[in-house]
Amino acid sequence: MSGAPAAIPESLTALRGVGPALAERLARLGVNRPVDLLFLLPVRYEDRTRLTPIGALAPGRRAVVEAEVALTEVAFRRRRSLLCRVSDGTGQLTLRFFYFSKAQQDSLARGVRLRCYGEARSGPGGLEMVHPEYRLLAPDEQGALEQTLTPIYPATEGLQQFRLRPLIGQALDRFLPLLPDWLEGELPEEPAMPSLREALLYMHRPPPAADLAQLAAGRHPCQRRLALEEMLAHHLSLRRLRERSRTERALPLPGDGALRRRFLASLGFSLTAGQCEALAEIDADLAQPHPMMRLVQGDVGCGKTVVAAAAALQAVAQGHQVAVMAPTELLTEQHRRSFTRWFEPLGVRVTWLSGSLGRRARQQAYEAIGSGAAQVIIGTHALFQEGLEYRSLALMVVDEQHRFGVHQRLALMQKGAAGALRPHQLVMTATPIPRTLAMTLYADLDTSVIHELPPGRTPVQTVALPDRRRDEVIARVREAARAGQRAYWVCPLIEDSDELESQAAQSMHAMLREALPELAVGLIHGRMGSEDKEQVMREFAGGRLQVLVATTVIEVGVDVPEATLMIIENAERMGLAQLHQLRGRVGRGTATSTCVLLYQPPLEGVARERLAVLRETGDGFVVAQKDLELRGPGEVLGTRQTGLMQLRVADLLRDADLAADVQRLGRSLLAHAPASVEPLIQRWVGDADRYGSV
Ligand code: ADP
Ligand code: MG
Repeated sequence: MSGAPAAIPESLTALRGVGPALAERLARLGVNRPVDLLFLLPVRYEDRTRLTPIGALAPGRRAVVEAEVALTEVAFRRRRSLLCRVSDGTGQLTLRFFYFSKAQQDSLARGVRLRCYGEARSGPGGLEMVHPEYRLLAPDEQGALEQTLTPIYPATEGLQQFRLRPLIGQALDRFLPLLPDWLEGELPEEPAMPSLREALLYMHRPPPAADLAQLAAGRHPCQRRLALEEMLAHHLSLRRLRERSRTERALPLPGDGALRRRFLASLGFSLTAGQCEALAEIDADLAQPHPMMRLVQGDVGCGKTVVAAAAALQAVAQGHQVAVMAPTELLTEQHRRSFTRWFEPLGVRVTWLSGSLGRRARQQAYEAIGSGAAQVIIGTHALFQEGLEYRSLALMVVDEQHRFGVHQRLALMQKGAAGALRPHQLVMTATPIPRTLAMTLYADLDTSVIHELPPGRTPVQTVALPDRRRDEVIARVREAARAGQRAYWVCPLIEDSDELESQAAQSMHAMLREALPELAVGLIHGRMGSEDKEQVMREFAGGRLQVLVATTVIEVGVDVPEATLMIIENAERMGLAQLHQLRGRVGRGTATSTCVLLYQPPLEGVARERLAVLRETGDGFVVAQKDLELRGPGEVLGTRQTGLMQLRVADLLRDADLAADVQRLGRSLLAHAPASVEPLIQRWVGDADRYGSV
């Protein structure tokens, strides 16, 4: 490979102490070559550079303690455990072991000195450490302390930290000096960034004085240096995909538009100017003998689905198939309803590929897809399962792109039409992303933007209320229901647990049923089966349920025009983008809609600003821009929705300000050092890119 330094060996077994078995375990961490070890970055750090007196320990703190054993005994209360009381003259600490051997018990005799590392917590008899790491000290031994912070690496089964650390140490000592730095002399000047070698060395061996909070927040200049390079590698790999797709062949789909005209005439509304423009751009792409790679960006409710449907008919009209992929079963169900309603009258057959289909039904679906009887196929990532053969897939529509990685999209692409032909790709996202970021993230896609919403919609009024005023909100729900309208009541994730989220929704459901006995209150959450979810959605859409208590499963794409009230619990805990998405569930009909953001006071800082942004604007692009500006370190809630790529250092939102540099560097490398592009991609993106070259 050109540009790869010949001096760093390619085989892991070049490392001392690595044989085939260990090499295989390393491969599970994505480490296939010695150089990969340099880029296997710690997930956090521990400070073992200093001793902490027991008297200075506080619950929740991890520390190294040196002490003498006062008493060791086996206790049988609740659970058999070995308790070892130690002291260092400043205080007492209990070491607690649930698993221990007789030899271990004997070794911890009174008077023995030891050094241990662990997290202090309060126990029944004062501070304790559960299963600390420890080492006995010889009577006059001065145990050495670590010279740098201790890196903790991502764990994999059968590969403990104590084995990984020396290997990475070896790689640093032997190979770091040989590592090429392709960005030398090209780095942004203000604020200055370290070289690649400095950055990696710092990440693996931070000095004792390193700012752990800054590192944990991912804002250290060394992390920024690596994030820049990582984003650049992804950007270049996407650009390369784009280049390749220009040389690939696809079925041109000019079409005479007769089927589409019948479809548009049946809709009962005409397309907005933005929809027409997007469709014209799509048509121009589809007419080419190369695969379209187009992203349609547009706020929730702007009508992207109709545009996709119109595009789909171009393929169908010529006897080819269209796959429509959405990230959740619930969304695929909704697409199935829309596409069936629109297409069946035109004699176009819509097939739904759900995870909940029985074996026979799935077999039938597979057959219909293989024979070409199924013309439009809707599903989740089940659409690119192995064993599923399309007769002639000419177009794939991917809804809500941010939930899928680029590689899933590429996998579906492999299912392309006969022979070497690739399907056209239409990607739709409701997450408006500022332009510089979009150009970096979607470097493989051309972009169409739908700016306006269909006419006749009144903007959603947004209010923020402390949750002690919930009763007023309940009264408002009652009023709305009396007027024939419907309400969502969303209980979002508070801790990162599907189960807890579902529980919160269940108790809210019980509470509202009691408070609103005259109304039909439904419940939908992530732990229900997809048939049950669809049943509930159907009842809500049909008006049999007037209030729907929900978790964030309704976040994207759900469409019930009669719903005019959106109540969001714990709004202060949620990201702007997600709140905006939820708000987009209402305001879809002609009646005025309201979004109530309930918060637990006090409302402070960024949370306060976020809610203010929502009250002030309904424009998704403004919301997205503010989202970037407001996101501070530690604002981790809400980052779940950015699972665009598998990134190691970079966070696309946190590091969005690097986007312009990424593009500049990309142009520069392609022009002046094209030979470095491939190894740079290999370094950061690695094999994940393999689909691109099939
Ligand atoms: P999204 O862009 O969020 O996917 P949808 O495609 O679900 O939006 O459209 C939202 C609603 O607006 C749907 O009920 C759809 O039928 C309707 N709609 C789409 N385009 C128009 C239009 N040009 N005029 C009126 N209503 C429209
Ligand atoms: Mg949609």
